[in-house]
Amino acid sequence: MKFLQDNDSNVPKTDLMVDKVADGTELSNNLIRYPDTRRSYNYSRIYISSIATACAREESIGTLLKLKKSIKFFYANVHMMNFGTAFHYWVQNNPDMFFEKDTFLGWWKCRACGKQRRFGIKPKSNCGQCGALPAATEYLEYKFRLDYPYRVSGKVDGILQVAPNVYRFMDIKTDGTKDDIVTATGNDIAQVSSYMFFHQFDKGPMTLPIKIDQKVGYVMYFKKLMNPKAPHKTFKVQPTERVLDPLIKKAELLGTAVKTGELPDPADICLTNRWTNPRAKKCTRLQECKSYYEKGYKFIR
Ligand code: SF4
Ligand SMILES: [Zn+2]
Repeated sequence: MKFLQDNDSNVPKTDLMVDKVADGTELSNNLIRYPDTRRSYNYSRIYISSIATACAREESIGTLLKLKKSIKFFYANVHMMNFGTAFHYWVQNNPDMFFEKDTFLGWWKCRACGKQRRFGIKPKSNCGQCGALPAATEYLEYKFRLDYPYRVSGKVDGILQVAPNVYRFMDIKTDGTKDDIVTATGNDIAQVSSYMFFHQFDKGPMTLPIKIDQKVGYVMYFKKLMNPKAPHKTFKVQPTERVLDPLIKKAELLGTAVKTGELPDPADICLTNRWTNPRAKKCTRLQECKSYYEKGYKFIR
């Protein structure tokens, strides 16, 4: 037991401060860093993941003035977001979890050389560029960015083949509540509907070589709490004009603003409440929005 004796000789003879902490939360606070995070986003396009709550005027002011949106996240939020990101990765890179094997499709990337690989099911062959094993290949979410007339950007979690030549978008959500989920939320329906609509105009480097079903997409909720009866719930998303029209309008307003400098009007909720409502108070472009309105400015050039 020489090792143990040697090792023991390095241990301080007095009690460590950390060993006097009995409370589990306190002990975590002593052992784990809990940093809050500030994340910065360029105003440029409306992110489809938040299109339901986006304000076209805020996006236009921020984009025309070339500003950044800086948001502080408390550690508890960061923790949940990181958990969600890790879960997305797990679903995307373990596509065997779907009912039929080989129904999860998309672009893939070799982590060894960074090359984007082919579109389809997960490659079973070595990387054609560097020869790395298929285990080095990971899912690459389909991204697209549009400029005009619709100024949006999107990143799709996955594509499922549900029948020969029927390919559908899916969006992954994690849910940490005890509640049973009985329907998709309005924001999630708006998000998937927008992917289905806007991606049709994509001409970028990741343009899909297949046609996505325009009638049905999916939002999939994965429970973070033990729920033996329903660990996952999937809901169909069938885009309607009622859902899509206001979202398309927002994307058009931003497209026009960038082209001509014309500002969209303030959102009704902010105008009627004279900018005292919660949405306005949280808005990072509140000052410019209000001041331009009061001065009668209709353009930024
Ligand atoms: S204050 Fe309201 S209307 Fe003005 S930019 Fe912000 S969200 Fe839009
Ligand atoms: Zn490679």
